[in-house]
Amino acid sequence: MARIGFYPGSFDPVTYGHLDIITRAARLFDELVLAIGAHHEKTALLPVRTRIAVLKEVILPITEHTDCQISFAKFSCLAVDAARRAGAQTIVRGLRDGGDFDYEVRMAQMNAAMAHEIDTIFLAASPSSRMISSSLVKQIAALGGDIGQFVPMEAAQAVKEALAEKDTD
Ligand code: ADP
Repeated sequence: MARIGFYPGSFDPVTYGHLDIITRAARLFDELVLAIGAHHEKTALLPVRTRIAVLKEVILPITEHTDCQISFAKFSCLAVDAARRAGAQTIVRGLRDGGDFDYEVRMAQMNAAMAHEIDTIFLAASPSSRMISSSLVKQIAALGGDIGQFVPMEAAQAVKEALAEKDTD
């Protein structure tokens, strides 16, 4: 049976922290589904289609070095339902600090209560990217800071364009 991992997130925008988790999760599964949550589409900076397009571009170097088949999904239902639909046995999440731990463990336990057959695994963030968060990246960019060391070029460009568009609204 193929081992299928399901990595849900907002990816608004994808950061080097997410890419670290994707690279390492790809070593653990035959297939990895990158699932973009569309729940907060109205409050997100980037539309879901842009988040998916950027993710597709930035994971290309990862796909060249792995046998894991990486695919994409958009979901606006419960993550466990979307994971089930994808045929995944495992949900993957990243842990940066105690704040992530408290929230993520609670969520994993509630997900386990709703879907006994699906487990959540946590990958500890790598030291070089554990301070990165999409929300801080957006704040820095909105204040004119350079986000190039936190996100891939394609993501930085998408954030820049979305902020410029917001300014003209
Ligand atoms: P969500 O809205 O579901 O939290 P995010 O895109 O912010 O979506 O995060 C998705 C997952 O990636 C979460 O498990 C989060 O803890 C993890 N993550 C986010 N940033 C990092 C990082 N810098 N290093 C490791 N994991 C991260």
